[in-house]
Amino acid sequence: MNETSATGPQQPSLDPVALLAALAACPTTSFHEAYVAAGIWQFCRDLGLDVRHDPYGNLIATPSHLPPLAAGGAGSSTRAVALVAHMDHPGLEVTGTDPLTGVGLGGIGGITLDAPEPVWFITPTGPVSGRVLGRVAVDGATQLRLEADAPVPVGAFGVWDVGAFREEGDLLYGPAADDLGGCAAILATLAECRRRELPARVVGLFTRAEEVGLVGATLAARQELVPKDTIVISLETSKALPGAEMGGGPVIRVGDASTAFHHEGETLLRRAAARLREANPGVSIQRQLMYGGTCEATAFVAAGYVATGVAFPLGNYHNAGPDGRAAQEYIHRQDLITGVALLVAAVEEAARDGAPDPVEMRLNQRADDLSERLRLTAAGWTVGQGA
Ligand SMILES: [Zn+2]
Repeated sequence: MNETSATGPQQPSLDPVALLAALAACPTTSFHEAYVAAGIWQFCRDLGLDVRHDPYGNLIATPSHLPPLAAGGAGSSTRAVALVAHMDHPGLEVTGTDPLTGVGLGGIGGITLDAPEPVWFITPTGPVSGRVLGRVAVDGATQLRLEADAPVPVGAFGVWDVGAFREEGDLLYGPAADDLGGCAAILATLAECRRRELPARVVGLFTRAEEVGLVGATLAARQELVPKDTIVISLETSKALPGAEMGGGPVIRVGDASTAFHHEGETLLRRAAARLREANPGVSIQRQLMYGGTCEATAFVAAGYVATGVAFPLGNYHNAGPDGRAAQEYIHRQDLITGVALLVAAVEEAARDGAPDPVEMRLNQRADDLSERLRLTAAGWTVGQGA
């Protein structure tokens, strides 16, 4: 897979790895996305992106040379694109102090808790170190037994203390690649659209509370935060699978654990991949149904949008290391970088009204070439005669 690094597209003007490193310093879990939101907000300002938020705290960013997306496209015949990623990550919340107890937010079941797991409690007065000691069933619900080195109030949240972002070879390790990797990819893509002043209709949507049931995305879709004719592309890190290998390139995600996505959305990504391959025949892009989890495209499909996805193969999904201990998640540098190139190409393709789909072109060409042969051979058939 190293060949990808040698032949992959050039880094975008704004390095998504640097963005991921910066966002990885922000502790986050569902309902507690304020630190990541502040980081994204600041980056938007620095990168020339207009940013606002909806009543639920979902952020929406538009390259500042473009008008905000409006229903009907303000006279444009081209499709708008919304790039969606979520700002939260599985973690925990403190629910009682005597004794200290909490609940998990999002999927933390892959961590066995056979041994105490270090966490940081994020309190209004600063971080406090502590541990998750185990799980107990209380009234049919799972409660976490906690321990802290200083007082921690009810409502504080906790993140696994698995160490700061680091690069090791081609791998990018951090506490929450899911989905800060997606957020970094969107910021880098929009920054590149802004830098090149692409005449495209594109926004980034950074949502909340995905890990507890796609809540921010469902509310964004319900409000029609982006017009109903927008093509939604969900950006996610997702458990590496056969056919969606770490370092094999970003994955055109044709579906998730719940839903198969839209042909129209995939066609846009296929056109984008063809555009990249034209400029760089060695580029690696994968295609797979990523059944390891449900992503936000499903929330938009359910609401009637055309949606699709791009995934970055993920190691140590939801911080579960191979031994069941809490560990850093990781993704491959080149998957992220090529992913940004794929998204920029998708935005460019969306701005080309009526551009052909390479598969459709190939099929039509083949039918044109061979139709005469079929017509001539069918003319000699006796099938059906005298019936
Ligand atoms: Zn997740």
